Amino acid sequence: MNRNRLDIAVVGAGMVGMAQAALLAVRHPQLRIAVLEASAERPSVPADHYDPRVVALTQASQELLAEVGVWDDIIAVRACPYTDMRVWDAEGTGSVSFSCRDVHQPNLGHIVENSVVSEALRTRLEALPNVELIDGFRLDSWWRDCGHWHLQSRPRDEQLVEGLEDRGEIVETRLLIGADGARSRVRDLLRIRCKDTDYHQTALVCVARCAQEHRHAAWQRFLRTGPLAFLPLAGLGDEHHCAVVWSADNDLARELLMLDDTAFALNLEKAFESRLGPIESVSERFSFPLRGRHAEAYYGPGAVLVGDAAHTIHPLAGQGVNLGLQDVRVLSEEIQRALKRGLEPSDHSVLARYQRRRRGDNAATLKAMSTFKSLFGAGELHWRWLRNTGLSMVDASPLLKKRIILRAMAV
Ligand SMILES: Cc1cc2nc3c(=O)[nH]c(=O)nc-3n(C[C@H](O)[C@H](O)[C@H](O)COP(=O)(O)OP(=O)(O)OC[C@H]3O[C@@H](n4cnc5c(N)ncnc54)[C@H](O)[C@@H]3O)c2cc1C
Repeated sequence: MNRNRLDIAVVGAGMVGMAQAALLAVRHPQLRIAVLEASAERPSVPADHYDPRVVALTQASQELLAEVGVWDDIIAVRACPYTDMRVWDAEGTGSVSFSCRDVHQPNLGHIVENSVVSEALRTRLEALPNVELIDGFRLDSWWRDCGHWHLQSRPRDEQLVEGLEDRGEIVETRLLIGADGARSRVRDLLRIRCKDTDYHQTALVCVARCAQEHRHAAWQRFLRTGPLAFLPLAGLGDEHHCAVVWSADNDLARELLMLDDTAFALNLEKAFESRLGPIESVSERFSFPLRGRHAEAYYGPGAVLVGDAAHTIHPLAGQGVNLGLQDVRVLSEEIQRALKRGLEPSDHSVLARYQRRRRGDNAATLKAMSTFKSLFGAGELHWRWLRNTGLSMVDASPLLKKRIILRAMAV
């Protein structure tokens, strides 16, 4: 493919960027699309153990991945449907249980390892004739003339630049989609400001093997220091493994990271109230500092943001990638509408409509997550009473539960 005459360049081959490129390529075979990825390494799916980084994919996300043509491949590799969700407060008696039976569905969603989703999308992109995936292209600078972006990568070898042999690659495109994650270079180059919230928490992730089977339930206990989630995994033998996402205040997270595996497993089991019996083993731990970010605008001239480049949220409700995939769906709909009406996909009105349809929804979810985090982090008696009463009221109301489940599944 001629890299100088692209219709669309997507910066970032994360789950959102690859899904965006694949959906547009499937719907519009006439468009020439490239995905530019900074990393030169191809991530792989571990064959004999679970990847601790997982996402809880909603039904809406599954439908989008099915249209792209990867959902069956994901299921064929490894994915765990969860039928129930149990949420409870560490300080009180409030708890709520959700079940797929409440909404007459076979499950509430699937827990899937990030590497499984990424590998399926990558393989799909490689099979699509109108897409090129360019690894090792870190967008560094750009200029625009006659409605075209000229994107320049950072030279791979700084030494060579001195000898003027490598100035980095240049790609030319009409529409630029920034899917380059929370610290988006595209957002910076567009000079779009971001509302930034430090949650003062770090997420520790690992895989734990529990004595009891997980029973296809997702478990979440709200501690004052942050939520602790156990998410069921399947596909490698029995059903005793869970992906753990422990969001903890920074000081506690630092202490937990320094413990050896035995001491960490004991702390984890205690924090989880041994709901699945003793924890038999834990994998290597990874940590992610947690910040909320929301771009003040989702587009600039001929360029638009999707996924974490536009919004990053606390993982307590497991919605980050689901929101990103909804951006993908809406932007694709707007581009399709534009093409039908003979408009350029990069037309200002197309990108403005996308922003109107997505920014309000994402802002509401970000706000809800911050409120949850503050409410469950509060130690005063009246807040504890409020959240325990709230959880018990939801649990006692089938109608309210049904509404909450249906809303969560549609994201
Ligand atoms: C602990 C934790 C648990 C989570 N759990 C869930 C969950 O259960 N459900 C859920 O929906 N979400 C969850 N999330 C959120 C989810 O992981 C993110 O929302 C999602 O991965 C964002 O995808 P993305 O493609 O937008 O960005 P990213 O995955 O960050 O991808 C961005 C890509 O852009 C590339 N890039 C960056 N800069 C450049 C550049 N200059 N040039 C070229 N390429 C560049 C990067 O290398 C990367 O490949 C969780 C997050 C955390 C931290």
